[in-house]
Amino acid sequence: MTSATRHETSRTLLMDKIRAVLGPGAVLENPAEIQGYCTDARRKFHAPALCVCKPRDTAEVAALVKLLHAHGWPMLPQGGNTSLCGGATPDDRLPVIVSTERLNKLRAVDPFGLTVAADAGCTIAQLQAAAAAEGLLYPVSLGSEGSCQLGGTIATNAGGTAVLRYGTTRANTLGLEVVLPDGRVLDMMRALHKDTAGYDLKQLFIGAEGTLGIVTGAVMRLYPATPAIGMCWLRIAGPAEALELLQLFRRHAGRSLTAFELMNAQQLANVLDHGSHAAPVEGREGWHLMVELADTASADLDTLMVGILEQAFEAGLVLDGSIAQNLTQAETMWAIRHSVTESNARVGVSITSDTAVPVARVPEFIARATDAAMQVHPGILVTVVGHVGDGNIHFIALFAHDLWAALPDRQAVETQVRNAVNDIAIALGGTFSAEHGVGQTMTGLMERYKTGPELDLMRALKRCIDPDGLMNRDRVIGPAA
Ligand SMILES: Cc1cc2nc3c(=O)[nH]c(=O)nc-3n(C[C@H](O)[C@H](O)[C@H](O)COP(=O)(O)OP(=O)(O)OC[C@H]3O[C@@H](n4cnc5c(N)ncnc54)[C@H](O)[C@@H]3O)c2cc1C
Repeated sequence: MTSATRHETSRTLLMDKIRAVLGPGAVLENPAEIQGYCTDARRKFHAPALCVCKPRDTAEVAALVKLLHAHGWPMLPQGGNTSLCGGATPDDRLPVIVSTERLNKLRAVDPFGLTVAADAGCTIAQLQAAAAAEGLLYPVSLGSEGSCQLGGTIATNAGGTAVLRYGTTRANTLGLEVVLPDGRVLDMMRALHKDTAGYDLKQLFIGAEGTLGIVTGAVMRLYPATPAIGMCWLRIAGPAEALELLQLFRRHAGRSLTAFELMNAQQLANVLDHGSHAAPVEGREGWHLMVELADTASADLDTLMVGILEQAFEAGLVLDGSIAQNLTQAETMWAIRHSVTESNARVGVSITSDTAVPVARVPEFIARATDAAMQVHPGILVTVVGHVGDGNIHFIALFAHDLWAALPDRQAVETQVRNAVNDIAIALGGTFSAEHGVGQTMTGLMERYKTGPELDLMRALKRCIDPDGLMNRDRVIGPAA
């Protein structure tokens, strides 16, 4: 028997065992059927997988992982496949994709403890709806919330538009259930707001991007619902005015301040010119801020919003503005904010940063990053969209399709832009990966920006938990250089 035949035989054997563990209908093998699972949300990455497995519960995930571990076969956990950094797409090792899409049961909502326990495959929209049905709020909110899953958002420590008020996914995770790379189940599904008994192991798996285990369930924080909404769209001179307005809103709206989203004129133009949204204010020049206040039903947010805006106009911080008069107008403003990714894709090819800097340094970061990017290529359309309240600015170097096609060395240009922008964020005390994760696009940057001791400790943890390197190998933390 040749080694190729031996390899083929062991693959066939493994496939037979996988089918036996999961039963009929839970394993997809046909390349046409698994195509979508093997391609990322932005259609930048594609690689084949041995198969896609869809276990129904934690026990099935554990049995599958145990089997793959015994065969030394690589595996890739996948949630909604909305990663913006190629994190959920296979590499060339032909992994088994472990999809959590059928782990979609809500386990329990506790209105007294303000918690929800759920399977990892529940979508964020599903969690939001379950909380709303109890008069409560699941606070994590992001453009992909209809598709991305609880497990994926935990694995990437997703942020979104309400971090300013409620923190990231990490801040809202109380308990976790994880299948380790050898198939053991780590049950930490405690619905506790306080627990200092030993190391807080769940933190290891939040933001680990599936390199240390598969999240199969979690207990998340809920909050009282905030049906009273106040929204406004403001045209302003620049990021410095945005910071002044942030202080004004914080001072007067306190905990009601929920979202504070900045975009530049180019970004708004991309959305308005390539979609069907009505302009939120008359002019486009300058910069744009979208502010949301939210509170319990008894709050009078209209009066509060008008009072704050009067002060803002008097102080010369606002050029133009409009207040949403009803929920439909508020939803239209959010629709503009959430259309950024798809409208930019119509305009050209985006090199998107996921940088964060200390909030006070946001204006300096934007100015310096713009200069640096334009030096790499003067034809770049700079678009900026950011959760300015937490310092997370997506600086986007956008190349029109024909310009991109004509570039002699696209890879080199992309690297130059990324390094130029990220170097500035790091120099200002920031990070290159604030909320999307590291994935495969930014693994190399870990080496560039993390310190030696940080890298050593991360590699030691990986070796300790996944000594055979079976889960998302070389993602997030690659081999030592
Ligand atoms: C239109 C759009 C808007 C977005 N806006 C935001 C935003 O505002 N803020 C933000 O933070 N992100 C945003 N994202 C990025 C993306 O939605 C998040 O990264 C999301 O958290 C990924 O969830 P997912 O279920 O799709 O995970 P996937 O994309 O399937 O996986 C992401 C990573 O997590 C791992 N993983 C997935 N599930 C598990 C699991 N159960 N256990 C262990 N590892 C797992 C995967 O292996 C991969 O490494 C946006 C994406 C899109 C397409």
